[in-house]
Amino acid sequence: MVESFFPDNLEKALELRQKKEIRPIAGGTDLMVRWRRPAGILPAFSGDMLFTKNIAEMNILQKKDTCLYIGANTTLAQLIEWKWTPRLLRLALLEMAAPAVRNVGTIAGNICNASPAGDTLPPLYALDAVVCLQGAAGIRELPVSSFITGPGRTVLKRDELLIGIKLFFPAPDNDMVFYKKVAVRRAAAIAKISLAMRSSKKNGYVKTIAVAIGAVGPTVVRLPEIERLAEGKAVLNAELLKTIYGEYDKFIQPIDDVRSTADYRRQTARNLLHHVYDNCIKWN
Ligand SMILES: Cc1cc2nc3c(=O)[nH]c(=O)nc-3n(C[C@H](O)[C@H](O)[C@H](O)COP(=O)(O)OP(=O)(O)OC[C@H]3O[C@@H](n4cnc5c(N)ncnc54)[C@H](O)[C@@H]3O)c2cc1C
Repeated sequence: MVESFFPDNLEKALELRQKKEIRPIAGGTDLMVRWRRPAGILPAFSGDMLFTKNIAEMNILQKKDTCLYIGANTTLAQLIEWKWTPRLLRLALLEMAAPAVRNVGTIAGNICNASPAGDTLPPLYALDAVVCLQGAAGIRELPVSSFITGPGRTVLKRDELLIGIKLFFPAPDNDMVFYKKVAVRRAAAIAKISLAMRSSKKNGYVKTIAVAIGAVGPTVVRLPEIERLAEGKAVLNAELLKTIYGEYDKFIQPIDDVRSTADYRRQTARNLLHHVYDNCIKWN
């Protein structure tokens, strides 16, 4: 028989993770859909479930000197309201789902679901977010880009929980932020493709640019070495832009699925990349 557990602190939760095969569930907006059954019948979970919502240590939301700490259970709605949420992340949150889902869906759920189309992921990659994982061996911290390894796949160990996310404060150079989600509707729809960008300029030269693209491959695509080609430049000439776009083309490998075609995604990704690189000098 499937059992449900509702620990109210991390120690109890981690003990359960160590002892048995048990699946964490936060807001349930991904998992309840995955295991849904006909209307009026409860979802059929495939194994024991660990409900994380009462775990006090995962409900923290705080700004410490140079860091924002976002507890795993922070809901999408809380993040929209929080005054310290980086602008780039808020832009994405405002186009996610509908208010009812935002009220229960969590940031940890969106990250651990590891969908290449997850809306918080491109901004989190562009902002150099770090995930904090805790298990029997203690706490480890990883860039979100190393945490997610493929669609639905992460390096979370069997005994670990994602306990929170760290973001730099103030957010890394972001005089200009841009977020675009291409979907059948502006919100309440899963992205066909999305792109998050932050950039800054100093004395007329590009100081930083960070670009992350969702739903064009098994994981979000961010290429820091290519971003560096634009840094320090006052003009991105045609030759440089050709090199930059050529490099991205190697990593943009979308698929056909129910939401879109690979061709549409590839072309739209190119259009968005041109938009942000062609304009990053003008915008800042
Ligand atoms: C109608 C609807 C619209 C939606 N629209 C969007 C949208 O526009 N954009 C979008 O990106 N998503 C959308 N979603 C998907 C979903 O709402 C989000 O991914 C949400 O952030 C998931 O959070 P959750 O807390 O509900 O996750 P859950 O369903 O509770 O969990 C999701 C995954 O994360 C794991 N998990 C949760 N917490 C932890 C933890 N602390 N440690 C380790 N693993 C954990 C679970 O085991 C599971 O694998 C939509 C869903 C619905 C139902």
